[in-house]
Amino acid sequence: MHYVTLKPDQKFTVGKIVCVGRNYVKHIEEMVAERTKEPVLFLKPPTALANNPEQIELPSFSNEIHHEVELALLVGRTAKKADAADWRQYIAGVGLALDLTARDVQARAKEKGLPWAVAKGFDQSCPVTDFVPLDDAGDIHKKELILTVNEEKRQHGNTAHMIFTAGILLAYISSVFTLEAGDLILTGTPAGVGQLRPGDRVQAELRGIAGLDFRITG
Ligand code: MG
Repeated sequence: MHYVTLKPDQKFTVGKIVCVGRNYVKHIEEMVAERTKEPVLFLKPPTALANNPEQIELPSFSNEIHHEVELALLVGRTAKKADAADWRQYIAGVGLALDLTARDVQARAKEKGLPWAVAKGFDQSCPVTDFVPLDDAGDIHKKELILTVNEEKRQHGNTAHMIFTAGILLAYISSVFTLEAGDLILTGTPAGVGQLRPGDRVQAELRGIAGLDFRITG
């Protein structure tokens, strides 16, 4: 079973991990991508989860695994065609996740118009923290996201700069996929994505809420 913890001690079995691409303008610019009218969605399987990992092993099929630090939302109840204004009813908790990405594999897939499942869904491609109840998290649209590699700051963003906010994302995602308790939503990464190498120490923080600290092996 693949689960996440909602503090203090509630466990949720994770069904699906719905990820949002292109949700911060500066990241879109660094990827030389285009902004879209609707959120760009892709999925990771629950086997991608790495709950508070101490180590992450890089997959052998890629030479370029990138870090993407993201605000993660834990779905607390079934949502189907939900209204954006009601988003708080459906979100149980808030945490931090990394959307580890095989950038070389993704670039080849993009070139050929092929899907991103391998680039985004491999084992351990989704390190996550424990989740904090939504009501204890303050304004989730004003949170700093920070990621350092070997104590060098690589990413420092703020959820205030998300193009699509939690309500818009929940409404759009639940119009496509029925969301169920335990599903996760990864809301996109700010700028500063970059490569991870064996031996790197990765520290990531959703300021005041949650953090990760692990080593890369390979
Ligand atoms: Mg991402």
